[in-house]
Amino acid sequence: MVIIGGGVVGAATAFFATRAGLRVAVLEARPRLATLTTAASTGAFRLQFDNPEEIALVREGIELFSEFGVRTGLEEWDLGLTLGGYLFGALTDQAAERARRLVQRQWAWGVTDVELLDGDEARHRFPYLSVEVRGARFRAGDGWLDPRRLALGYVAAASNPARIPNARAGGGAVVATSCRVTALAIDARGRVDGVVTDRGAVSAESVVIAAGPLSGEVSALGGLSIDLRPTTRQKLVFPDLPEVPADAPMTIEEETAAHWRPNGGGCFALWTDPGAQSSEATNDPVPDQTWAFGLLDPSSDHALARLSPFWKDVWARGTDNWYLQAGQYEYTPDRRPFLGPTRIPGLALNAGYSGHGVMASAAGSRIVVDLLTGAMPPEANAFHVDRAPVAREHDIL
Ligand SMILES: Cc1cc2nc3c(=O)[nH]c(=O)nc-3n(C[C@H](O)[C@H](O)[C@H](O)COP(=O)(O)OP(=O)(O)OC[C@H]3O[C@@H](n4cnc5c(N)ncnc54)[C@H](O)[C@@H]3O)c2cc1C
Repeated sequence: MVIIGGGVVGAATAFFATRAGLRVAVLEARPRLATLTTAASTGAFRLQFDNPEEIALVREGIELFSEFGVRTGLEEWDLGLTLGGYLFGALTDQAAERARRLVQRQWAWGVTDVELLDGDEARHRFPYLSVEVRGARFRAGDGWLDPRRLALGYVAAASNPARIPNARAGGGAVVATSCRVTALAIDARGRVDGVVTDRGAVSAESVVIAAGPLSGEVSALGGLSIDLRPTTRQKLVFPDLPEVPADAPMTIEEETAAHWRPNGGGCFALWTDPGAQSSEATNDPVPDQTWAFGLLDPSSDHALARLSPFWKDVWARGTDNWYLQAGQYEYTPDRRPFLGPTRIPGLALNAGYSGHGVMASAAGSRIVVDLLTGAMPPEANAFHVDRAPVAREHDIL
């Protein structure tokens, strides 16, 4: 198997393919693994979704993260796993009511440990919240990890197949960096039988496209038109920030989706702009300083200070160091991934994670491998590439 792309999704694919007894080559265009979108990620995961299929994907991932050393044979590997929780705070009665309805559906889907809090309870548990908070939803078992450590761990495990418990014999992975795939090799029967790279040709019985935001362009090499919409997303990094409680959860405003979470002695802060337009896929996403001021300036309509007023002090002080990282979400029309075979035999997609590729790619990659090896029947795949888009409630993150 050839895997195009060495971000967290390609890395996870390599791990599950190796475990299934396949010989794998991970081909990565950049000089180092996991340095494009994966490096910009917040590394967070949650079961607080609006549909049972994605809940199942992330649940499987959290189970793997929690036992990563045992399941990969890398006992000492530190993912930086933190079960810090996800707290969504509502500043209006309408948003609190919407959250209450969502949580009731989550309970019905088996996510019974999401707590609904009224404003006073929420402020009591999380004293940094605004007096304006009308209600909150909280799940303590949500959290985050270091996404590069995760990706590099998958690859380390795939390169040491003898250590993976219950792995089928014969599997193993090799990695080539600074190796860009420039064409797909298609045989006379129309089946993919390898790739062409800027360092030569590689033959393979199957090829998995895991090229993140560039997956649409790579698919086009085989004449496939995949509806992926790369959209720039950014992360504001404060290396140090005294106001941020080290044990705070991911804290999100329900209406605006502005959010932050602790990281070391500082924090990450983000905002998923609902009006952001998709653009060309790029190897070099460029941050926009104006976006940061929209989070930091308390007069902004999506200021972090609306939910957590200590951000007013940070703004007033104006002396803290911060910087931005940018990446691209690759949205699908229904914001759920495209997993599994394409109409070209032997060619599969593992892409379109729509901003959830760290948390969902463990299960997503296991599914892609199971589909290719026949361990999963195609009709059991809710994320197949040619599906009609699923109607969604708006998922704000
Ligand atoms: C600001 C931000 C915050 C995020 N926060 C979270 C979060 O908290 N939780 C979460 O689950 N997700 C989050 N995400 C989304 C997550 O980062 C992505 O879904 C995930 O990293 C995608 O991984 P990937 O391996 O598909 O893509 P990438 O990491 O982009 O890797 C794709 C790789 O393919 C390579 N490639 C492309 N074309 C070729 C070619 N022709 N030949 C060889 N190699 C090629 C690229 O060089 C790249 O290294 C966030 C994203 C952003 C931008």
